[in-house]
Amino acid sequence: MTHPSTGVDVPFFERARETAPPEILRRWQWERVAVGLPEVWDSNAFWRRRLQAAGVRDPRDVGTWADFARIPRLAKTDLVADQTAHPPFGTNHTHPLDRHVRVFQTSGTTGPPIRWLETEASWAWWARCWAFVFRGAGLGPQDRLFFPFSFGLFVGFWAGLEGARVLGALAIPGGGQDSPTRLHTMQELGATALVCTPSYGLHLAEVARAQGVEPATLGVRTTVHAGEPGAGIPAVRQRLETLWGARVYDHAGMTEVGAYGFECVAQAGLHVNELEFIAEVLDPESGQPVAPGEVGELTLTNLGRWGAPVLRYRSGDRVRVGTSACPCGRTFVRLEGGILGRVDDMLVVRGVNVFPSALEGIVRRFTGVDEFQIEVFRRGALDEVRLLLEIDGSARPGDSVGATIDRVAEAVRRDLGIRVEVAAVPTRTLPRYELKARRVVRREEPGL
Ligand SMILES: [Zn+2]
Repeated sequence: MTHPSTGVDVPFFERARETAPPEILRRWQWERVAVGLPEVWDSNAFWRRRLQAAGVRDPRDVGTWADFARIPRLAKTDLVADQTAHPPFGTNHTHPLDRHVRVFQTSGTTGPPIRWLETEASWAWWARCWAFVFRGAGLGPQDRLFFPFSFGLFVGFWAGLEGARVLGALAIPGGGQDSPTRLHTMQELGATALVCTPSYGLHLAEVARAQGVEPATLGVRTTVHAGEPGAGIPAVRQRLETLWGARVYDHAGMTEVGAYGFECVAQAGLHVNELEFIAEVLDPESGQPVAPGEVGELTLTNLGRWGAPVLRYRSGDRVRVGTSACPCGRTFVRLEGGILGRVDDMLVVRGVNVFPSALEGIVRRFTGVDEFQIEVFRRGALDEVRLLLEIDGSARPGDSVGATIDRVAEAVRRDLGIRVEVAAVPTRTLPRYELKARRVVRREEPGL
């Protein structure tokens, strides 16, 4: 297969290994588990406890994939409990504390933050994982990657910055700058790729336009997005592509797990990097594998971070594995439609299951809507949803604010089968996010 826009061969970071037969991938994964698990058993108090509690008397008790499937799934609450009981770093360490070179912390969007320590080896592993992401999107040494990210305790794009180094590309850190300054930096240094959350990609384009600059003229050919599912939502992707005049790639990773998922140039969903991760798609309740093509919870094991590993970690992400081969030639699992939503973020509106990502998919089709929020409130015994929209009346001449509201409400009714209230709010009153947008807000009172 050739690259859809450049006609050159599909780019790989490690072609031979990324296209290895699935049974070979499984064998390689097992070889890593067989080396890592005994080391963890010997000196990692957290995992020793968990494995013993599950009846493991010796790492040799985990000798087959069937044994592996009996390891209890790890939940975020387990990690939080451990860190609460053993502050500040918990007990998931295979090495003495002085072996670590970096500390990070989760963003705390879905609970108390968790800290994570990296060794030299695990930090190098993070960087390598990101190199698969960037190379998968066709980036290479000739590229200049811009990272509009406040380089704080969140690992996100720190690891991306390191990944650019592994790729041999030029990384431009965009920390400590406001959006107009970032745009200026991108222009001056000739950025060819933008790496940020989808929300921030939209916001930065908005800022450019407010300054009279068309973002598509800035020379960005590729954007890579992480931190939120947005780039996997077709309407969000399309909007980013139009605004930036670029090919838009989705990436998925978690502080607890690593940079596990990426899109190839065929853009047929998210590949899980099965050279570095074991992916299982399980029924969230029973923990049993779902049938091929069914939606389940992505459960991940990392294979290059034995200093603080996760085994069978419940990502909380709903995914569906594609049953056909990817045209790019990779044999890695392919998550169709990317991350479909969170296991725990489903809203029930008058008996209808509604995922916020589905609402976002509808709202983003309307180019006059700059930002939105999903308000959830109780009316009597029922949850009700109200969509708040910031509407730029000038975006499409002839489109009044009232007409946009009606069209969004009608699209929700048609596509999801529910009626929701839609209301306009003044422009620039809803929060903008650099990281982990939180667009679902619960209110005690009906409000408005
Ligand atoms: Zn592919």
